[in-house]
Amino acid sequence: MPDFECACCGLCCKRDPYYAVSLLDIETISAGLGMSPVEFFNRYCAVVDTPGGFRYPVILAPEGCPFLKDKLCGIHNIKPIGCRVFPESSLLPVTILKKSVRAIQSCAILSLPDSDEPLKTDHELMAKRDLSFEHTKAYFEEREDFDEPSWAVAKDNLIKVLSDVARNYRPWS
Ligand code: SF4
Ligand code: SF4
Repeated sequence: MPDFECACCGLCCKRDPYYAVSLLDIETISAGLGMSPVEFFNRYCAVVDTPGGFRYPVILAPEGCPFLKDKLCGIHNIKPIGCRVFPESSLLPVTILKKSVRAIQSCAILSLPDSDEPLKTDHELMAKRDLSFEHTKAYFEEREDFDEPSWAVAKDNLIKVLSDVARNYRPWS
């Protein structure tokens, strides 16, 4: 599988109007910023209906992600799981992945040789990403906004599920 080395141009952190955060990301990022979860959410986030038909919490990025600093992620060690698995998360063959980023001319993905295989990726992290998204979508499905007590229960439940993945996971490649 092809390896990918990011050129750190920062442009993929500017191209979308928002970036997804999971239930657990809300805790990790708010703690890292020294804020309460509700303070973090009210200052940086919103619940949106995505084009894919989901309600999901996101970091709003009308002029690029607010955490992008000098082309690099200013919260790299605590960034959302969706950001951690990009661009491998698409699991698209490299040839198709290249088409999806062709608007970003400086993206190092465009320099990769064409291939029918996806990029080399961390499948345990991907499994955690999928579970995080699933639990987060389920929690926010009926919600307009952030409610800290019920979020804390849902987030603790997600932590338990993710620790089971770590205990039971057997890589398949
Ligand atoms: S959190 Fe970091 S990696 Fe994610 S969009 Fe913002 S700057 Fe980019
Ligand atoms: S646009 Fe491509 S090269 Fe630039 S930071 Fe994003 S993934 Fe890396």
